[in-house]
Amino acid sequence: MTETLLATAVRPSAFKAGLEEAFRLCRQQGLRLSQQRKLVLEILWRSGDHLSARDIFEQLNADGRRIGHTSVYQNLESLHSHGVIECLEKATGRLYGHRADPHSHITCLASGTIQDLDIQLPAELLEQIEASTGYKIESYRLHLQGRPR
Ligand SMILES: [Zn+2]
Repeated sequence: MTETLLATAVRPSAFKAGLEEAFRLCRQQGLRLSQQRKLVLEILWRSGDHLSARDIFEQLNADGRRIGHTSVYQNLESLHSHGVIECLEKATGRLYGHRADPHSHITCLASGTIQDLDIQLPAELLEQIEASTGYKIESYRLHLQGRPR
């Protein structure tokens, strides 16, 4: 059960398919697929983690790529505004994730790491919420916090 919920480690096959899908989404959104943009997407997909612009900038530099911090940041912002990647607003700054579809997160209160989760709430619970709020729920994201047991 837990296995189907956790999507942190991106399997190699899922990594390649996901990256291709992200490229396709860029083209569909009219975003130019520059080499820099491809590299940024590749790092996000490879790590499967939520990274800051600085994390990505440092990784690119470690890989010997000369891309300025501002350029990395601008690429991330435009990928996010075109719905290709996600952006989480944290007290410490913005974190970017490879997934753009609605999903939930669990934050580790000990280490600060954030994991992606696919959680489906029971239909009865959603109906209850709809009845009490008067809204038709179209999507939801849960933000859970916890410590290692
Ligand atoms: Zn995420």
